[in-house]
Amino acid sequence: MTDWILRGGEVIDGSGGPRRRADVAIAGDRIAAVGIVDKAEGAREIDASGKIVAPGFIDVHTHDDRALIATPAMVAKASQGVTTVVTGNCGISLAPLLLEDAPPPPLDLIGDIADYRYERFAEYLEALDRSPAALNAACLVGHSTLRVGAMSALDRPAERAELAQMAERLQEALDAGAVGMSSGLAYDPAFRAPAAEIEALAALLRPAGALYTTHVRNESHAVIDSLEESFAAGRAAGVPVVISHHKTIGRENFGRTAETLPRIAAAMARQEVGLDAYPYIASSTVLSAAQAERALKVLVTWSKSAPE
Ligand SMILES: [Zn+2]
Repeated sequence: MTDWILRGGEVIDGSGGPRRRADVAIAGDRIAAVGIVDKAEGAREIDASGKIVAPGFIDVHTHDDRALIATPAMVAKASQGVTTVVTGNCGISLAPLLLEDAPPPPLDLIGDIADYRYERFAEYLEALDRSPAALNAACLVGHSTLRVGAMSALDRPAERAELAQMAERLQEALDAGAVGMSSGLAYDPAFRAPAAEIEALAALLRPAGALYTTHVRNESHAVIDSLEESFAAGRAAGVPVVISHHKTIGRENFGRTAETLPRIAAAMARQEVGLDAYPYIASSTVLSAAQAERALKVLVTWSKSAPE
């Protein structure tokens, strides 16, 4: 029984094939037909001529961990056609972490103390299940979140007992359904984490069928070394690596993707590597004096209220 017919749109189906003019019939929550669809008794028709008809978009790089709980309608994403978000990127996830002090930047990007209230990853996923958001979510565990939860100081490598605790929480998250671990090695909470620390944790990912995504340690002068560090972590763990929001930053590095993209292509030939990129020609991050100095232009898109 057809419920809806999207009539005469340009279908881009996500297969990589060319777009084509087609009707789409929907029965319940399933696509029933794509092609020439006859009128059907009781079906509501939408004239899609002059429009694109596409499957929902997957927003692979988000910090929507808290947004899914706080604004489950997710209008900001749904209104753009996004139907799945990947959360927990850049080393920061809302869980597993209970906070007693203000979250250190960049953890404050996703929430305040009160939002960091899930000691186990399963509790966060249960909260999502209790009041499901309008979108699907695939959730990463943040390496920086694990560090903040396990370490007394972040400006050094994790000690053995701390690493064991991080591994235990990561394992709990993977068992609960996390799809991978992210790192944000450029940021203070993780900058002093050596490659060995990442590799020790990433070793847990393969048995879970999970992947490793990384906001690499340095996207400016040392971008090549940082890419190689990321590939090495993936090879050591035997897991796919995703280079997050790939770019080269700072005026002196403009255009260096001519160097980095061939490196990434070479890595793709020997291991599973992917990347994502911003849909705009800029970098988006926490503002610091150093960032401002090497930028051509700075645009403040949000901040905490600081009238002074
Ligand atoms: Zn990032």
